[in-house]
Amino acid sequence: MSTYAIRIFGDPILRQRATEVANIDGRLVSLADDMIETMYEAPGVGLAATQIGIDKRLFVYDVGDGPQVIVNPEITESRGEWDFEEGCLSVPGLHWNIVRPKEVHLRGVDLDGNEVSMDADEYLARVFQHELDHLNGVLLLERLDADTHRQAMKTLRSRVLSGAGFSTPRPEEPAL
Ligand code: ZN
Repeated sequence: MSTYAIRIFGDPILRQRATEVANIDGRLVSLADDMIETMYEAPGVGLAATQIGIDKRLFVYDVGDGPQVIVNPEITESRGEWDFEEGCLSVPGLHWNIVRPKEVHLRGVDLDGNEVSMDADEYLARVFQHELDHLNGVLLLERLDADTHRQAMKTLRSRVLSGAGFSTPRPEEPAL
């Protein structure tokens, strides 16, 4: 297993919609292993393939029950509202309270090719929504209200201009 560099805000692949996985083969399994290792090293609780520059629709996560991989995920239902302070490994050191649906139903395929169909609530639902956004080329910045978004872009630009980069202290909450 090996780890990948996590792509950071500004990298064009983070704005692209990833391509469906056509075949689950040994290469995909080893990619998933590397994604899991990269996620743990970050440390994070979720990681989408596009975050390491791979144009494939899969993400990995671990909310405390061991690592899981979902291939070609889709959210088929969502309901309610839940406010949660969300961070992203691709926008390191920053986090915002974001309201998203509280419950979702996720469908996809696992690495054995078996269909996955599950309900998720609160934190797990948030992980799924965040990672699926990544596969659709959407960053959490786009989930902010207009004022917060403007402020966030100002902060991000000033970091780039000052050369401060993103080597800020790690947030207390692991990011996604
Ligand atoms: Zn993220």
